[in-house]
Amino acid sequence: MLQIIRCRDLGFDDDFIVADNDPQKVKEKIIDHVKTEHREDFESFSDSHQEEILLKIDVLVKRGCGCGVLKL
Ligand SMILES: [Zn+2]
Repeated sequence: MLQIIRCRDLGFDDDFIVADNDPQKVKEKIIDHVKTEHREDFESFSDSHQEEILLKIDVLVKRGCGCGVLKL
């Protein structure tokens, strides 16, 4: 099943989207994107905020489809 994560879903303001059939790859790619493209933002977040974003990625990947936005 195609997994989709939008960077915007994580609270960043750009149009980056990861789509892949492998949830693990989606997770790796979006984390990679956040830690390169949004490195300064991400590092300026508190530990709990960073954890929240990583947790949200997990939730979005497990959700199993790209429709709708899950509100945490
Ligand atoms: Zn982004």
